[in-house]
Amino acid sequence: MRAVDIILKKRRGDRLTRGEIEDFVTRYVSGEIPDYQMAAFLMAVCFQGMDAEETVGLTIAMMNSGDQVSLEGIDGLTVDKHSTGGVGDKTTLVLAPLLASAGLKVAKMSGRGLGHTGGTLDKLESLPGFRIDLDADSFRRQVNETGLAVISQTGNLVPADKKMYSLRDVTGTVDEISLISASIMSKKMVVDNDALVLDVKVGSGAFMKTIEDARKLAESMVSIGKGMNRKLSALITEMSQPLGHAVGNALEVQEAIDCLSGGGPSDLRELVVSLAAELLLHTDRVVDRPSGVERAAELLDSGKALEAFHAFVTAQGGEPEAWNKLPQADRIVDVVWQGDRTNVAGIDSEQVGRAAMLLGAGRETKDSVIDLAVGLTFEIKIGDILDKEARFARLHVRDHHDDEVINRARAVLVEAITGSNEAVSSPPIVHQIVD
Ligand code: URA
Repeated sequence: MRAVDIILKKRRGDRLTRGEIEDFVTRYVSGEIPDYQMAAFLMAVCFQGMDAEETVGLTIAMMNSGDQVSLEGIDGLTVDKHSTGGVGDKTTLVLAPLLASAGLKVAKMSGRGLGHTGGTLDKLESLPGFRIDLDADSFRRQVNETGLAVISQTGNLVPADKKMYSLRDVTGTVDEISLISASIMSKKMVVDNDALVLDVKVGSGAFMKTIEDARKLAESMVSIGKGMNRKLSALITEMSQPLGHAVGNALEVQEAIDCLSGGGPSDLRELVVSLAAELLLHTDRVVDRPSGVERAAELLDSGKALEAFHAFVTAQGGEPEAWNKLPQADRIVDVVWQGDRTNVAGIDSEQVGRAAMLLGAGRETKDSVIDLAVGLTFEIKIGDILDKEARFARLHVRDHHDDEVINRARAVLVEAITGSNEAVSSPPIVHQIVD
């Protein structure tokens, strides 16, 4: 079929066959179909959508556009999680060692990415000595020996997504559910894990701003996974305020270590145990979700998850006691509330992330250099009461930060808060489970 006929078929709202989708994507990646025809196709999908069968077809076509990652040679059940991303999201740093301590295998490929802070790889690199450049054999060996290894994405993985995402970005076709789900799931399904949990964030700091949209995305992704015979589920989780308190690379690692030691912020702990419970259930380690939650909490409280973290960091090149040698900023600046006593009714997470970025914790472009030690701790949550002159955040800054930068970061944090005269209840961490 000619490319234009496939575009017209979708534009009319007719259903495309797997063969047609596969053909279109393959010819696009090879350069035979030009960007303008893919752009027209993507726009037609935005107007007409794709049903579950078509979305699976698109995911498979994208996945098959490059290399596949086999986890052959890893003994036991392999698991992974994906988060749609949010401010202060250090969940992987806690969840992965916790799962390893439960006897599951986590062979994780992570990225650096752009954003308020670095990605998981940057965060881990704040542990002195930590290496991300393991070759395939060392990666497998480490997963077998310690249950967990994290490497940077290598190889020619899902080139179709790279090409299509750049085009979507400039043609107003990013926010269509089947395109988002195929994009995310093609990158997840390319690794043959036994079970997967998806953390779909909702709120001011998330890609999805409403529960309704987050649910549609979660359902679409779960249906793709099921269509490909994978065990998976999705949690729709809160991102209308930062997760935990720390926003910044080394600061987040420290908060993750606190959580691995049985402490840390309660929202982070609840999210971690809820995600862990899904994977413990999918791998038949427990019989139901409540037992999964209980088992996960036990692994945090007993120190087993922390032990697994230490073994992982050491195996991956970390200096002795690297977890006690995280880089520190030069000084800490308190941020206090100048307004009247108020109930915290809203926190704009994106603004909180922006303040961390102003201090140098995140990358604006892929070539930006980040400072692993800087960032902030945001100490209040929705539902708290903020008194006049109360400290609500701390900035971890360098000597080179002048008053102008500090004052801007401070102002952004103040603006992030919405106060109310009425008492406000705190939102739940997990809104829904989609399976
Ligand atoms: N994240 C992705 O990987 N793809 C999208 O399309 C949107 C968010």
